[in-house]
Amino acid sequence: MDATTGDTLIEVRGCRQSYHKDTNADLLVLDDVELSLREGEIVGLLGRSGSGKSTLLRIIAGLLRPTAGEVNWRGQPLTGPVPGIAMVFQSFALFPWLTVAENVELGLEAQGVARAEREKRAEEAIDLIGLGGYESAYPKELSGGMRQRVGLARALVVHPDLLLMDEPFSALDVLTAETLRTDLIDLWSERRLPLKSILMVTHNIEEAVLLCDRILVFSSNPGRVAHELRVPFSHPRNRLDPAFRQMVDDIYAVMTRRAPSLASPGTIAAPPPEVTTTTKLHAVSTNVLAGLMETVAAPPYDGRADLPALAAALQLEADELLPFGETLQLLHFAEFEEGDLRLTEEGRVFVQADTDDRKQHFATALRQYVPLAAAIRRTLDERWNHRASSVRFLDELEDHMSPEYAEETLHAVISWGRYAELYAYDEEAAQFFLEADAVDASG
Ligand code: ADP
Ligand code: MG
Repeated sequence: MDATTGDTLIEVRGCRQSYHKDTNADLLVLDDVELSLREGEIVGLLGRSGSGKSTLLRIIAGLLRPTAGEVNWRGQPLTGPVPGIAMVFQSFALFPWLTVAENVELGLEAQGVARAEREKRAEEAIDLIGLGGYESAYPKELSGGMRQRVGLARALVVHPDLLLMDEPFSALDVLTAETLRTDLIDLWSERRLPLKSILMVTHNIEEAVLLCDRILVFSSNPGRVAHELRVPFSHPRNRLDPAFRQMVDDIYAVMTRRAPSLASPGTIAAPPPEVTTTTKLHAVSTNVLAGLMETVAAPPYDGRADLPALAAALQLEADELLPFGETLQLLHFAEFEEGDLRLTEEGRVFVQADTDDRKQHFATALRQYVPLAAAIRRTLDERWNHRASSVRFLDELEDHMSPEYAEETLHAVISWGRYAELYAYDEEAAQFFLEADAVDASG
């Protein structure tokens, strides 16, 4: 399908979204988002958790008005949901008391389509997505994959021009997800889907390369389109094809680059973020971090591992491996380099150290590179009773990020500080404190 000649469906210009917080600083989720979708293409939106992908999808669906910027649908400003755009969600949002057919017909009822016509079109959609014979089944009688097919049928029954999919396969087991992907792409290639274009959000790089004609890589904090790639392979695609593997590798490299220097015209390359006391931290366990460093240090990697290979060896997806790598990078134990994770000198020293020395190396890294941990320790050193409530740190974090992220960040500094014996934490009183020997050591 030639994606460059089709009519423009969606045009997003200078889009910004911030969520208001009670305190001074708003949470800026999207900034300067530019994107357009044309008839005939499947476009993937690839980015990490929390980068604002779902937010952007809701804006394009007309469910959320952006704080600034414009969205045009077929050349007209989009001011709310339109019949030409339908959405499939990650979780199978079906009504348990309705049959498969009734769930699918729901989309048409809202449009005031007559009953006979509704039934006919629902049956067509159900047949199309391979659920023929299950019309009168209830959701609880279906497997997860079948329920997701119902969700897809419900979106297709309205014959939308644009289908939006928010991580549609991520709640499914591996085999079911793969079957659904294959079925979807077969229907698309045979032009049997009543659709002009698909925009799909995913955090799975392989999935994007398998399905999409064009991939937009989203940056985080704030989210914006940092990179755009055209996927030149025809369907059906082979995951084992060296060119396919190369593209997956290249995207890993883009997603792990500190400052995306290949930002396309009209987008701004984000400078490396400065780490402050309110930087979001990933709550990854020190055990996992140590294990990951040991794995990278050992053969066959010998200090430098290709991320896709490492992810496969550890049975993780991009989205799961990246927070670990980012944390090692934050602590200066490892660096991302063009899609590889490379241990630094400090990382090698850590791996070779015994248990006690590892704690000390970790404590040093926390004091130097994690301003929040350093600030907690400083506060405790200055207090006469060497105790400080965590609430004040949490409040400060919540001024800069969502409550869930603030919790996660607090959780991270608690577990890291405990491991490094930089400070202790009293769960009951929700207070950081210094053990007697730690007080002496600092004096
Ligand atoms: P993604 O889909 O890429 O994981 P989201 O769009 O769901 O990202 O969320 C991006 C950021 O916006 C997150 O920090 C999230 O906590 C925040 N966020 C999302 N929705 C809201 C909301 N309604 N109010 C406040 N913050 C929100
Ligand atoms: Mg999301």
